[in-house]
Amino acid sequence: MARNNKILILLGDGMGGRPVPELDGLTVIEAATTPALDLLARDGACGMLSPISLGVPPGSDTAHMAVLGYNPYEFYRGRGPFEAKGVGLDVNPGDVAFRCNFSTVDATDGRTVLDRRAGRINSGTDQLRQAINEQIAEIDGVQILFRESVEHRCALVLRGEGINEFVTEVDPHSDPAPGEAGEPYHDCRPLPGHEEDPAARFTAEVVNKFVRRCFEVLNDHEVNRQRVAEGKLPANIALPRGVGTAVHLEPFATKYGLNGAMVVEVDLVRGLAMYLGMTVINAPGASGGRDTDEISIAETVELALTDHDFVLANIKAPDLGGHDHDIEQKIGAVKKVDSAVAYLLDRLDFNSTVMMLAADHCTPVTVGDHSGDPIPAVFYGHGVTPDQVQSYGERACAGGYMGHFIGADVMNILTNYSGSREKFGA
Ligand code: ZN
Ligand code: ZN
Repeated sequence: MARNNKILILLGDGMGGRPVPELDGLTVIEAATTPALDLLARDGACGMLSPISLGVPPGSDTAHMAVLGYNPYEFYRGRGPFEAKGVGLDVNPGDVAFRCNFSTVDATDGRTVLDRRAGRINSGTDQLRQAINEQIAEIDGVQILFRESVEHRCALVLRGEGINEFVTEVDPHSDPAPGEAGEPYHDCRPLPGHEEDPAARFTAEVVNKFVRRCFEVLNDHEVNRQRVAEGKLPANIALPRGVGTAVHLEPFATKYGLNGAMVVEVDLVRGLAMYLGMTVINAPGASGGRDTDEISIAETVELALTDHDFVLANIKAPDLGGHDHDIEQKIGAVKKVDSAVAYLLDRLDFNSTVMMLAADHCTPVTVGDHSGDPIPAVFYGHGVTPDQVQSYGERACAGGYMGHFIGADVMNILTNYSGSREKFGA
């Protein structure tokens, strides 16, 4: 069978949700005006996607793995290595990696967390990183690799003998409510059950020293003095979380016989793509933030499909509104996904392309975090049997042809339509 049909997965990060009282009980997707997404639903086959399993709230990493057919229960050893790899840090098997936030702690005690995102700092973090690289290159014989990413995000890799990933998080995961005192960041400790594990104990010690050293290096840094003078919060510490260790994953090309690319908005996806040996393509206008240029992303997808069999693209913006309980922002972000789809409908030949439009998980504005609710999904293009669903949304898609499916089904469904799926049996 000819294998010239292309496959596209477009994910609006965290786009799914729940009914919102302020929207008269509609979800954000249902309330947003989305002519292109509705056209997909009208002419495509709809369904509900639970990436990992019904009711399991996925992380972006485990959701992307699951949708690409890599069982996270088998292969997932923590987010840190993907994050670090995506930021451009080198990650070797055995390394212990963390994602981090530049954060603000009270300058008088160096411990009380005032803002986990350092006022969403968006400049000068390269200078802060440089200071850390120069002054904290090594702790107790463990090599320290550290690099910044967009906004407050950064990553840390520990490389050396006698370390492992069985340790707790430093980031307290909550900001003080207005008018309330913050809580101190957490000391890194061996995970329950690993208290006597010398490697876990040593790793925790190194992490705690790293965090203390960060405050010493950053608190008086010129960038932060400037920020304080401007009435901004200083990025005077880096708080590690999301620990993990490097894994071996079967390359995407070997697993599927497809030449795959990812159009990248988030470091995590970039890191996963690198793990899978896929081509990583940056859209020039993609910021990973609220102001991202979705048309630039769509143009990059179009270009990527000219010389790849498979492209996965992710638009991060909807997830940000979900986490911030920001209804208006999330509506705008869903419209950005709609604009990207409108561009692709104009430019791609869907007689020879099959696409799935979905999300990697729900991030309901009513929850402010990822939930395990099913995600509205649409298959559109080559081979797809259109169903009776007339619009894209949580309740509309639940009535579709595809029913309720999981991440492990997605590549099977898409490669079946594209004609690249081998028959199972004679
Ligand atoms: Zn996500
Ligand atoms: Zn999220």
